[in-house]
Amino acid sequence: ERRAALADTTGPGATSDGHKVPLLANVGGPADVPAAVEAGAEGVGLFRTEFLFIDGERAPSEDEQTAAYRQVLEAFPEGRVVVRVLDAGADKPLPFLTADDEPNPALGVRGLRALLAHPDVLDTQLRALARAAEGLPVYLEVMAPMVADRADAKAFAEACRAAGLHAKYGAMVEIPSAALRARAVLQEVEFLSLGTNDLAQYTFAADRQVGAVARLQDPWQPALLDLVALAAEAAKAEGKSCGVCGEAAADPLLACVLTGLGVTSLSMGPSAIPYVRATLAKHTLAQCERAAAAARAADNAADARTAAQAVLSGE
Ligand code: PEP
Ligand code: MG
Repeated sequence: ERRAALADTTGPGATSDGHKVPLLANVGGPADVPAAVEAGAEGVGLFRTEFLFIDGERAPSEDEQTAAYRQVLEAFPEGRVVVRVLDAGADKPLPFLTADDEPNPALGVRGLRALLAHPDVLDTQLRALARAAEGLPVYLEVMAPMVADRADAKAFAEACRAAGLHAKYGAMVEIPSAALRARAVLQEVEFLSLGTNDLAQYTFAADRQVGAVARLQDPWQPALLDLVALAAEAAKAEGKSCGVCGEAAADPLLACVLTGLGVTSLSMGPSAIPYVRATLAKHTLAQCERAAAAARAADNAADARTAAQAVLSGE
């Protein structure tokens, strides 16, 4: 029965009443592209470029990067590809960008902070992206990880402009301060993308690599949903888009709730795309909005899920 339900749903992501929610893939490099294409991804919503260089002792050259990026961009002609600049540090150390002696690596010089401390590495990557996209019809977007405030967003936007990049540039919302002041961040960039893995980690002060605090990493936590709603509402007010690219988007029920909160696209591991597409197609936008309100009204993650499920199953 599950197979039949999946076979029925191909094509772009949308609710049953036609509200479009592009379903995009999270990839770590060219090797992940076939699965994304097979799943019918409408593009890439998160290209984790740091995975291409995770074992490297030295910064990759502009030519090496250009070749790797081009392979991913070529796979989605006319599609959308959102590339994240190197997100080094904490769970993803890159020796050429991050120090290994910080007392709290998750709170240290990681993500955009590390790139702003090594502007040559950021500039090389942005130039490589500009070259990789040359002559392709792909719709390139570039975003920065770990943006904390408007000043971070401004520094990133300036680096993109200086590199001559013809792309939309955006900020990931992974730090609560960026969600709380999303409208200010949006004065500098053209879109937001919520990284719910880190956003949960920083909202609950719960290390994503520590199993003992996994309860607090649950993306159904109403406090996390509140922050998602803040960012999505800010983007709507500014006439800009706000996607989700954290693991939360891969849970079909939660994908409906995120849609109801105002999120405009969902990016996930390719294998989840058919399930999210099928579930979304069974519910109207109004149902998703009611499910989102019910989830936010709950006191904990388990009750939020139960409440959303009840709305979506028409109970
Ligand atoms: C996130 O934090 O939710 C995210 C998408 O980025 P990563 O998992 O690569 O840190
Ligand atoms: Mg992250």
